[in-house]
Amino acid sequence: QAKRADNGQLVWYSPSMSRASRRRLDLLHDLESAIHRGQLTIHYQPQIALDSGEIVGVEALARWPQPDGSFIPPDRFIPLAEQSGLILDLGNWLVTQVCGQLSEWRALGLGALRMAINVSMVQFNHEGLIDLLADALQRHSLSASLIEVEITESVAMARPEEVMAKIARLKALGVSVAIDDFGTGFSSLAYLQKLHADRLKIDRAFIRDMGLSENPYSIAEMVINLGHKLGIKVLAEGVESPAQATLLRSLGCDEAQGFLFAKPAPPAPLTHWFLETGLKVAV
Ligand code: C2E
Ligand code: MG
Ligand code: MG
Ligand code: MG
Repeated sequence: QAKRADNGQLVWYSPSMSRASRRRLDLLHDLESAIHRGQLTIHYQPQIALDSGEIVGVEALARWPQPDGSFIPPDRFIPLAEQSGLILDLGNWLVTQVCGQLSEWRALGLGALRMAINVSMVQFNHEGLIDLLADALQRHSLSASLIEVEITESVAMARPEEVMAKIARLKALGVSVAIDDFGTGFSSLAYLQKLHADRLKIDRAFIRDMGLSENPYSIAEMVINLGHKLGIKVLAEGVESPAQATLLRSLGCDEAQGFLFAKPAPPAPLTHWFLETGLKVAV
């Protein structure tokens, strides 16, 4: 039986191939057809301004639905897509989808919502990223300021010169840039200042730890202060309790995202909720 390998070439199962690598090839093959048949979906998770409770944006999170109604989580299929190059097809599809969603929301009077998209190492370094975004925005007559590109701290730190140049091009287009999972990598502070990112997203590990140790909120507090000293907004990921939200607000954290406010949800119920209750939650 022929299967597509990581490099896109067809290979044959060999008897010596381990069960694990067969499973991986099967999964890769299924992922490829799911992407090309448009079978992936996107859930959206609201991002909230902590001072007002206003819903200011959403993060787009890819989902791979299974016949039994479950989802394969992105932590399982994104790395696979990344290693095989399929991530570029996935990214093309996702950008088209989110722009369609933004124009639907605009038509419903929900046109101010910012859309954050996750961009992996391969996608970020790919030459076509700027054109992909520019074309999709133009096709839907959307302002580039509605899009925020999230790259993880480790991607941001990997190739300083290229990353700075790419961020400058994104910002010239009008797209904003967030550093995701912040605090888990080892940022050079001098370099961080030169990146001109718009937002730091505090990794949820540091939010989870708030109030637990004798050093109750030191990392989150340090990131908030660091961001603000550098003129960068700060968003807390993974906020699950009212106590965390209260603490973050008292520390001056700008925005938050987490199960306390809303879990990632499919577009239809989310849109319904936005229209029913308005773009506001209790904080
Ligand atoms: P991320 O960008 O850091 O996304 C945040 C993750 O935290 C999401 O997991 C979200 O569902 C989860 N989360 C949000 N609030 C809470 C909370 O209060 N508690 C807990 N325990 N978790 C919370 P998800 O959707 O499984 O995504 C995992 C990662 O997969 C993302 O991390 C992102 O790095 C990646 N990813 C997802 N979609 C895409 C995509 O379209 N493209 C790329 N390149 N990566 C993606
Ligand atoms: Mg993210
Ligand atoms: Mg994150
Ligand atoms: Mg993450």
